[in-house]
Amino acid sequence: MTTSKQISRESLNALQARLQGAIIAPGDPGYDSARMAWNLSVQQFPAAVIMAADTADVAEAVRFARQAGLKVGVQATGHNVIRPADGSLLINTSQMAGVSVDAAARTARIEAGAQWGAVLAKTQAAGLAPLLGSSPGVGAVAYTLGGGLGWLARKYGLAADTARSFEVVTADGRTLHVSQNENADLFWGLRGGGGGFALVTAMEIDLFPVTTIFGGNLVYPAALAGEVLRRYREWIGSLPLEFTTSVALMNLPPLPMVPEFLRGKSVIMVRGCHCGAPEEGQALLQPWLDWQAPVANLFHPMPFSDVAQVSNDPHDPVPGHTTGAWLRDLSDSVLDTLVEYGVSNNGSSPLVSTEVRHVAGAMASGDRNAAAFPGRDQSFLLGAVGMAPTPELHARVVAFSNTFKRALQPHISGLYVNFVEGQEAREAAADSYPPETLQRLAALKAQYDPDHLLDYSYQFITGHDVA
Ligand SMILES: Cc1cc2nc3c(=O)[nH]c(=O)nc-3n(C[C@H](O)[C@H](O)[C@H](O)COP(=O)(O)OP(=O)(O)OC[C@H]3O[C@@H](n4cnc5c(N)ncnc54)[C@H](O)[C@@H]3O)c2cc1C
Repeated sequence: MTTSKQISRESLNALQARLQGAIIAPGDPGYDSARMAWNLSVQQFPAAVIMAADTADVAEAVRFARQAGLKVGVQATGHNVIRPADGSLLINTSQMAGVSVDAAARTARIEAGAQWGAVLAKTQAAGLAPLLGSSPGVGAVAYTLGGGLGWLARKYGLAADTARSFEVVTADGRTLHVSQNENADLFWGLRGGGGGFALVTAMEIDLFPVTTIFGGNLVYPAALAGEVLRRYREWIGSLPLEFTTSVALMNLPPLPMVPEFLRGKSVIMVRGCHCGAPEEGQALLQPWLDWQAPVANLFHPMPFSDVAQVSNDPHDPVPGHTTGAWLRDLSDSVLDTLVEYGVSNNGSSPLVSTEVRHVAGAMASGDRNAAAFPGRDQSFLLGAVGMAPTPELHARVVAFSNTFKRALQPHISGLYVNFVEGQEAREAAADSYPPETLQRLAALKAQYDPDHLLDYSYQFITGHDVA
C-alpha cells in the first residue's frame, strides 16, 4: 500500500536537520515497525513517522506538517488508535518517556510517551501511587485525557481529576502551559475530552499514599456465571470505597501465556483491589469463600507496584478489538445477556473478556465544571475484548460485539471514550457527552485547531465526514 501523500526526500532531509529524533519514511528500514500500533489489528501507512525526542521536535513537526499540507497523527503506544494515520505525519512520542517525582509535593511530571508501568515504578519508590489503569503498558497521558479509571478509582477517583497541568503544542506550533489558571478552557477540555485539541507533550499529576493492597481474583467455573453475577451485584452494595472490584467472564485461549489450569477454559472471575488494611479486604472477601470454594483464590496482600497482577492484561502487542459502555443497571436481563454473549460454548463467543467494573465512588464528587469528563454519575463500566489475528476474525469480533451491545442497548447509558476504539470511537464518541459539553468541545477545536490539522480524534472533533 502506498501513502496518499508523498513528501519529497529533500524536504524530509531539511526537517531532519532541525530535529533531535529520527524521521522514518516509507521505504526506510524500520518503517514497518514504526507505523505499527500495540494493537496489531491496526494497519496505518503514514507519510512519515517522526520519533520525537522532545517538545521542540513535536512543535517543529507540527509546523512542517502545516506547511506540507499534511494532517498530524500522534501515538504513544497504539493501545487505542482512533483514526489510523494514513497519509499523515505521525508523531510517535514513545521516546519522550521521562518521569520525575516530587515526593514532598506528591506530584509527578510525566512526558507524553511514558507508560504507566514506568510511572508506577518511580512513584512507588517514593511511597506514592498514580491512578493508573489495569495495564502498565498503556500510555499515561492519553489514558488521563479520556478520564482514566483504574484499581483505585472508587477511593481516589478519575486520573483526569489528578491532572494539575499540561504542556501542549498547538496546531499552529506554539507551546502552551495549560492549567486551571492558564488556558483554562483547554484544561477543562483535556480532562475527559481526549487529546484532539492540542498535542500534549507532558502533564503534571497528583499522587496518593498507597503502597500495599489486597488484590487478586477468585476464579469460578463459567457454569456458575449466572449465580456469581447475581451474588456480585449484592456483594458490591456493602463494599467500602477502598474496594474497587469487577467481575469478568473469560474465555481463555489455549496459549502458553495463560496459566496452565486456565488454558482453553471459560471461567468467571471476581476481581478486586482493596487499598485499606489487608485484613479488612480479606474479611470483605469472606462471603465468597463461605459460599463456595473457588477453582482458585488468587487474592493476596501485594505491593501496589504489582497491581497489574489483578487484571493480568497482555503486555506484548496483540491483535484485538475492544468495545465498552456505561451500564445503567445490573438487572437480571443485563446479567443474562452478559452470560449469553460472554461465555463461549464450543466457540459461540469470540470474546476473550467481558468485564463489568464497579466504579461508583470518588469520581462523583469531583468538580463537575472543572473537567469535560461526562461519566461522574455512572456506576458500572462494561469492557469487552476479542482477539482478532486475521481481518476475517476481526470482522467477526466487531459484528459480534455490535450485536451484544444492541442486546444491551436499553441498559446502556453512554460510552466511555477510553473503552471504544477505531470506527466506533470516531463515529460514536459524541454519544459520550451531553449536548452542552459537545458544543463546548467543538468550540475548543474551532479555537485551537480551526483547520483540523490534528486529525487523530473523534469525528465530532476532527470534523471528518469519512469513516
Ligand atoms: C489492555 C488495555 C487496558 C486498558 N485499561 C484501562 C483502564 O484500566 N482504565 C482506563 O480508563 N482505560 C484503560 N484502557 C484504555 C486506555 O486508557 C486508552 O486506550 C488510552 O487512550 C491508551 O493510550 P495510549 O497512549 O496507550 O494509546 P495511543 O493509541 O498511543 O493513544 C490513544 C489516543 O490518544 C491520542 N494521543 C496519544 N498521545 C497523545 C498526546 N500526547 N496528545 C494528544 N493525544 C494523544 C492518540 O492519537 C490516540 O487517538 C486500556 C486499554 C487497553 C488496550
